[in-house]
Amino acid sequence: MSFDLLTSPIDLGFTKIRNRVIMGSMHTGLEEEKDGFDRLATFYAERARGGVGLIVTGGIAPDLLGRLTPHGSSMTSGSDVLKHKIVTEAVHSNGGKICMQILHAGRYAYHPFSVAPSATKAPISPFKPWKMPSWLVRRTISNFVRAATLAKKAGYDGVEIMGSEGYLINEFLVTRTNSRTDEWGGSFENRMKFPIEIVSQIRKAVCEDFIIIYRLSMLDLIEDGQTWNEIETLAVKIEGAGASIINTGIGWHEARIPTIAQMVPRGGFAWVTKRLMGKLKIPLITTNRINTPELAEKILQDGCADLISMARPLLADPYFVQKAIQNRSAEINTCIACNQACLDHIFNRKIASCLVNPFACNESILKSVRTVVIKRIAVIGAGPAGLAASITAAERGHDVTLFEKENAIGGQLNMAKVVSGKEEFYETLRYYSVMLKKYQVQVKLNSTFNASDAFEFDEIVFAGGVLPRSVNMEGIELPHVFNYVDILKGKRQTGKNVVIIGAGGIAIDTALYLLKGSDPEKLTAFNAKWSIDEEYMNRGGLSQAKAKETPSKSITLLQRRKGKPGAALGKTTAWIHREELKLSSVKFFDEVEYKRITDDGIDVIIKNELHSIKADTIVVCAGQISNNALYDELKSLGHSLHLVGGAKEAGELDAKRAIEEGTLVGLKI
Ligand code: NAP
Ligand code: SF4
Repeated sequence: MSFDLLTSPIDLGFTKIRNRVIMGSMHTGLEEEKDGFDRLATFYAERARGGVGLIVTGGIAPDLLGRLTPHGSSMTSGSDVLKHKIVTEAVHSNGGKICMQILHAGRYAYHPFSVAPSATKAPISPFKPWKMPSWLVRRTISNFVRAATLAKKAGYDGVEIMGSEGYLINEFLVTRTNSRTDEWGGSFENRMKFPIEIVSQIRKAVCEDFIIIYRLSMLDLIEDGQTWNEIETLAVKIEGAGASIINTGIGWHEARIPTIAQMVPRGGFAWVTKRLMGKLKIPLITTNRINTPELAEKILQDGCADLISMARPLLADPYFVQKAIQNRSAEINTCIACNQACLDHIFNRKIASCLVNPFACNESILKSVRTVVIKRIAVIGAGPAGLAASITAAERGHDVTLFEKENAIGGQLNMAKVVSGKEEFYETLRYYSVMLKKYQVQVKLNSTFNASDAFEFDEIVFAGGVLPRSVNMEGIELPHVFNYVDILKGKRQTGKNVVIIGAGGIAIDTALYLLKGSDPEKLTAFNAKWSIDEEYMNRGGLSQAKAKETPSKSITLLQRRKGKPGAALGKTTAWIHREELKLSSVKFFDEVEYKRITDDGIDVIIKNELHSIKADTIVVCAGQISNNALYDELKSLGHSLHLVGGAKEAGELDAKRAIEEGTLVGLKI
């Protein structure tokens, strides 16, 4: 497929953007690290080299009150300018353009000095904000202007004003968070004065040759959010105030509706930007769950937007654009929208990276250096750890042979990919297949590696993976008891009443697979389920209450420990999975003591009472154990061995750790 629109430049009059791909704003955590700006510069420079049209930095506060965290990054002084110059120079010397996002966190600020139009606490913050006196409103506007002026001094090509996602500017726009009675509250005319003043005063200060992107919340997804009329009115005013481009914001952070997670259909919010197309003279950017050049091109061809914003896909593959231009899109390492190493890291105060690309944000630390001595390397197991080790070592010039006992590569990914909403794992498998060929890894499927084979190799990477843990319980041998591998590989079918032993990530995956199968959810069904209204009949773009689904099976999850199901899953997605279980009426019991499996179900003790839960099928999802018997044998023979992934440590294994460990071994071998 050719990407004629996606790769065509766009002329803003005073400057040109070389193609239609914008790297959307994303906080990396490097902004606050010691020497973080050097790493940040390397990170962005690589994306610039990879051909992206324009980069937008993570959110930088215009003043101390607007910082997201007590030590969050801000642009308030000459010393900030010097730090940011490292970034802009690196990007420019690699042919790119970059804008700094100015973000005032408002009541989402995670510190006791948060401010907002009114003193109304956000449901996702422990801090009640201080109501801004009107002098502070004016001062904050000036601080936005100061940040933009300093950004220009630092060499940025422009700024993006963060006006969406429920941050300060957004809070001025709606009565839910703005109950003021002065000139900044009351009518919509008054409520939208704050962003209009910010944009018009910045335009005056920075002159005409500076990009101003305004990120406009086009779908608040909260009660008492904006109406479509208000959004359109604001967009026209923002254009009039001097913005060069309008970007799309989807959903406040406090909205309990998934907007970027894996189960959101690809391109699921392009329709929102399309509503505004033709209403303005300046270009529009669309965003959210766009992760392939094919989809991006189609969205442009369908007239949904003029530009495409992608943040996570450029974390996953800095050369996304270059590969598309060179007709090598099959080589793109596709973002699978898991959030596990990017957003979940940020929420855990860790530096962001990427599950499928551990080099992300570590470009200056992890280097792939061509080997001087070519070694014959055997990799045992073609799960994520073995795949990552194989391509990393082979790219460096080693002679790699990959052994897999099954008839396909992928290991545990083959089970994840069949769950509706997790089909992005097919992309990861496609990527690895293409890379194995590219780097000439010899792949031996249906092949059991024997200890005697080891003598042909200089080094062995053992990535034998995991085996499902079997549980010791009366009745476990009964014919209606299966493990999750049987189910997810389609070897066994269940009846209508299923009890699942375990309530971790795989138990949830198994429950969702049993309820929904493998087909990705269609956009209309997704919107209906999450009460998103494409007609925009109500404020915030919300329809009536979430539609409860009529489940095809009755499912019960059980767990011995106290706590919610999927408690170990990432912060940004665990709540969605739990909500999905609730919508499908899945029952859950914690603090369960197992007694026995019977012909009719399972006997358990809950709160000192014996319960017989009826079930025609019991599925065991009780975690895994390492599959490393062969490793021990190889070790005893004195071979040079590296142990990675689930074979090394089965507990809390996920694809992120497996790929990271495989990559690190591939780099050092
Ligand atoms: P897990 O998260 O460790 O959950 C294992 C479950 O089995 C727990 O609910 C545990 O609860 C139960 N269990 C453990 N030993 C048991 C025993 N002897 N008898 C009965 N129950 C037992 O493991 P998993 O669900 O298999 O997932 C494996 C890894 O993949 C995890 O790291 C997980 O986070 C990851 N994963 C992630 C996703 C995702 O969407 N991000 C999806 C799937 C898997 P009790 O011990 O309290 O009973
Ligand atoms: Fe995408 Fe997951 Fe990587 Fe984040 S961690 S960039 S969501 S693949």
